[in-house]
Amino acid sequence: MARKNPNIVITGTPGVGKTTHAEELARNLGFRHVSVNQIVKDEGFHEGKDAETGAWVVDEDKLLDHLESTSLSATGGVILDWHACDLFPERWIDLVLVLRCDSTTLYDRLTARGYKGKKLDENMDSEIMQVLLDEARESYREEIVVELRSDSVEDVEGNVERED
Ligand code: ADP
Repeated sequence: MARKNPNIVITGTPGVGKTTHAEELARNLGFRHVSVNQIVKDEGFHEGKDAETGAWVVDEDKLLDHLESTSLSATGGVILDWHACDLFPERWIDLVLVLRCDSTTLYDRLTARGYKGKKLDENMDSEIMQVLLDEARESYREEIVVELRSDSVEDVEGNVERED
């Protein structure tokens, strides 16, 4: 099935700037920004939070069914914003943007958000070890995975212009 517009995943460690990019890109392209985190919370597609990391334990089957029936359309033009990407079927996705951030900057953003202890450490490690980038490369064709910097406001502007 040919889509009129691409479906895009914006992924990366919490705090790298997914929401910021997704909102800006959706505005510029007239695409639909789907905050997967918000859906998981609003629809209750989880079994609570992991006690140590504070991350939602997600019911992926329910989430995917919901996204397929409500968010995805035959014409495309959806931006999925989520800190993981390997759960989305390959056939849904045309472009995967993996945002990356300098660790000092990310540390400041996450502590400003109140992250501490194991939750902070795990997310910092994840960024330094490029876990989400590797996950994206393992899950999708190499040519549709693009790594972008998100250290500064200028990066956001440049990235959004580039994807336009
Ligand atoms: P995520 O959705 O990946 O968790 P957010 O988009 O919510 O990240 O961004 C986290 C915080 O960092 C916000 O306060 C946002 O304004 C800031 N931020 C994100 N990306 C950038 C950037 N490239 N330059 C400056 N500040 C940024």
